[in-house]
Amino acid sequence: MVQINENFLKLPGSYLFSEIARRVAAYSEANPERKLIRLGIGDVTRPLPPAVTAAMHAAVDDMADAGRFHGYGPEQGYAFVRNAIAEKDYQARGVNIQPEEIFVSDGAKSDCGNIVDLFGPDNKVAVCDPVYPVYVDTNAMSGRAGDFDEEAGKWTNLVYMPCTAENGFLPELPQEPVDMIYLCFPNNPTGGAATRDQLKPWVDYANRTGAVILFDSAYEAFITRPGVPHSIFEIPGAETCAIEFRSFSKTAGFTGTRCAYTVVPKALERGGASLNAMWNRRQCTKFNGVPYIVQRGAEAVYTPEGQTQVREMIACYQNNAKIIRDGLAAAGLTVSGGVDSPYVWARTPDGMGSWEFFDRLLTQANVVTTPGAGFGPSGEGYIRLTGFGETGATREAVERIKQIL
Ligand code: PLP
Repeated sequence: MVQINENFLKLPGSYLFSEIARRVAAYSEANPERKLIRLGIGDVTRPLPPAVTAAMHAAVDDMADAGRFHGYGPEQGYAFVRNAIAEKDYQARGVNIQPEEIFVSDGAKSDCGNIVDLFGPDNKVAVCDPVYPVYVDTNAMSGRAGDFDEEAGKWTNLVYMPCTAENGFLPELPQEPVDMIYLCFPNNPTGGAATRDQLKPWVDYANRTGAVILFDSAYEAFITRPGVPHSIFEIPGAETCAIEFRSFSKTAGFTGTRCAYTVVPKALERGGASLNAMWNRRQCTKFNGVPYIVQRGAEAVYTPEGQTQVREMIACYQNNAKIIRDGLAAAGLTVSGGVDSPYVWARTPDGMGSWEFFDRLLTQANVVTTPGAGFGPSGEGYIRLTGFGETGATREAVERIKQIL
């Protein structure tokens, strides 16, 4: 009889989004005349920039021509896109990242999940609370998280770093030794962002202790403040202790197109091994590359027209986030995020629970949000709203919320 990976049996159901969908469906069915506005979504709504679709159309034509057809590509990504990333996302910002340190993939979600392949089973893992659930669940699946304590809403073997109003939604260095540290800035769900000065102690900690920082900067394109770095590699010393995940999903509307990349510096070594060489080995064994057509689309993001179009799209989402942030603050709610991030994190009024406030907004304002409690125990008492909607609908949603408060 085959032995299964019993860690899967320990996973709680993916409660958050299915429970939201259930409550929204039940309400809509009972009240079909009510028009709901969805501000809970973490998905983009605007179409791909024309520079990207034009490049993809041309790439489709390449595939129809015997001389320009592409079969299997390099597992790490085509040189044309790795070069563009190294030059435009790093070297242009004064960061010395080379194309061989960049691995193009089908998503930051896959990479954040797959990276655990590089690490042994006994590592102590630190995560922010609240947190993007992928870091937690993938470590649970590979046996590093212990057991799920239903009452506490936490895994027994993970180190949770609370991100609360008291610490400005920035974690403090853990009190106990940790080996793998997940940091995500700008943060999903809180919308908080860390400055260079705030990230430096983490880099120093990891270099001092031999830990590795797994830095998710999927939302870097939304940064507005000059003191906030777009990459962990802007912090001196990060090249010997950090891996970075980036994505075209939120930057360029690629959530349905799928393209991202992970940076593993050549200088990053642990246990006498190069993590760059290990990730290369892992990708060559388990991954056969991103479609040529998609990589041509990603390359086009870096052209002057692509950059103009992408900035315009992001500005629209940033403006929506500002409408939400300012509107809810005017309505008396305590809000954070929404400045370097598409996410606004709002405190529920009068100590109300996340789900109770979610229900109130759903049934009284007909606005769908995301209850903060779904991202971890420290998310209780908050809701997350996103700037990824349409501007008119965002404005209307904020007006409706103002009216019921
Ligand atoms: N990282 C964070 C923090 C996210 O919020 C998301 C998507 O919501 C991802 C990664 C996934 O990105 P991708 O679409 O590239 O898989």
